[in-house]
Amino acid sequence: MAATDPDNDLRATVDELMDGLRSDLERLAAIPSVAFPGFPGQPVREAHDLLVGLLRDAGVEHIERIDLPDTAPVVFGEIPPPTPDAPTVLLYSHYDVQPPGDESLWLSPPFEPTPVEGGLRARGIADDKSNVIAHLGMLRAFNGRPPVGIKIVFEGQEEYGSPFDTYPPTDPERFACDAMVIADLGNLRPGTPTLTTGLRGAAEVVVEVRTLKEPRHSGEFGGAAPDALLVLLKALSTLHDVHGDVAVEGLRRDEWTGTTYTEEEFRDLAGVEPGVPLIGSGTLGERLWSGPAITVIGLDAPTVEHAASAVVPYARAKLNLRFHPRQDPREAQAALVAHLSALKPFGIPLTVTPGDTGPGYEAATGGPAYRAARAALKEAWGTEASYVATGGSIPLVNGLAQAAPGAEVLLFGAQDSMCNLHAPNERVLFSELRATVLAMCAFAREYAADFRRGESA
Ligand SMILES: [Zn+2]
Repeated sequence: MAATDPDNDLRATVDELMDGLRSDLERLAAIPSVAFPGFPGQPVREAHDLLVGLLRDAGVEHIERIDLPDTAPVVFGEIPPPTPDAPTVLLYSHYDVQPPGDESLWLSPPFEPTPVEGGLRARGIADDKSNVIAHLGMLRAFNGRPPVGIKIVFEGQEEYGSPFDTYPPTDPERFACDAMVIADLGNLRPGTPTLTTGLRGAAEVVVEVRTLKEPRHSGEFGGAAPDALLVLLKALSTLHDVHGDVAVEGLRRDEWTGTTYTEEEFRDLAGVEPGVPLIGSGTLGERLWSGPAITVIGLDAPTVEHAASAVVPYARAKLNLRFHPRQDPREAQAALVAHLSALKPFGIPLTVTPGDTGPGYEAATGGPAYRAARAALKEAWGTEASYVATGGSIPLVNGLAQAAPGAEVLLFGAQDSMCNLHAPNERVLFSELRATVLAMCAFAREYAADFRRGESA
């Protein structure tokens, strides 16, 4: 293996490692490790075993598997701190992938890693196998002896969801650390080093209304018999104001102080049709990350194709609420429930049922690990790191944060917003992978140095 004195020339070391990392990424991405019901379990175990072998070869001596009911094995590895005053960093990523979806939409078979301009295309090659490999690259660059203690957590059923999310607080000793690098994310755009500092919370609410025992002829009864669908639509239309901003009281909205997409980038990423304006007011960061969003994600009503000339007796909608990273999930959900419960369109009450909730997350960005990470990302990409948030949630982050409440949580990695996560033709760029490996190395070096300075100060 390549490494000389990593402090002298991390960049050259990482460059030398790239060919090997690329071929390991190709091996890993060729395994269809889809941990969803209905998919074979064998490839998931194969990916697990491959990783264990790669970690051993990278110098990780202590490796265990955490087996919980109904979930793929979690790879757990440990490298003790080189000196008693060195900090411990937990490295997280996952080796399972989303199902490929409709394979006819792929330009090459999803589990045959295929070169694209500047990178590779395959299912899971960005989310999250690129980051598994980035962690591995960091270990290799230091010949398995990084300047910080290491704990490795590579999960195998992140995409489907797993009981592992709530496991860390039950075994806090194992997950104790000073900082964690949650590498299941990436950059706002290729070449823009990005730390994700917030994840919005999520809650679901179902609202329904019954007005008649059964459908009635709209010619004979329409005009006086209340139409359940119309009642529901009137209720849903109160959730936003004329600008498209959420109009429900009690949902937190703050100014977004980090970076965000340009409107053009966002329109492109979201696939907004030409001539269709975006909704809401204020910055995109505020609309997407530090403010609420309510989306009608399902509606039970007669289809147009099978529509009879009848007054609709019953209608139901499912709403997905996203809320400020720091707002309590119960409080946010209760705000939406209270808004709907208070409505009586045409004097008709609605039945409102709260569903699942998931907490958001907001990182504290003032500590030594953040300082080290900002310096490391700048070194790797040659430009100052941006802060962004994301609407998607990573439930395990909360589990890990509860298990190690004093640890700083860093979210960065080799993905980027344009890499088609969970969509056909997922791809990763070598430029981002290489810079991520370098950033992880530089982070370990900076953080260890900073930590020692802090101790002696
Ligand atoms: Zn992921």
